Amino acid sequence: MVEIPKETPEHKHCMICGKSISVDKDFCSDKCRDEYNGIMKRRKRSNYIMIIVLIILMAVLFVPMLFQA
Ligand SMILES: [Zn+2]
Repeated sequence: MVEIPKETPEHKHCMICGKSISVDKDFCSDKCRDEYNGIMKRRKRSNYIMIIVLIILMAVLFVPMLFQA
């Protein structure tokens, strides 16, 4: 059996650097918050690119089919 310590203080970890932080916070510092916001912005942009690539791919696949029919 693995012993679970009873008095673990409630805490979270900073989503960027993994430091222990209090539960009411998401990041240990403004620097980490800024970094997170930057990552999210980049992620959103790459989602748009993915969708555009998918649309182009579909067009390339289906447009010749339409002309063949
Ligand atoms: Zn941090």
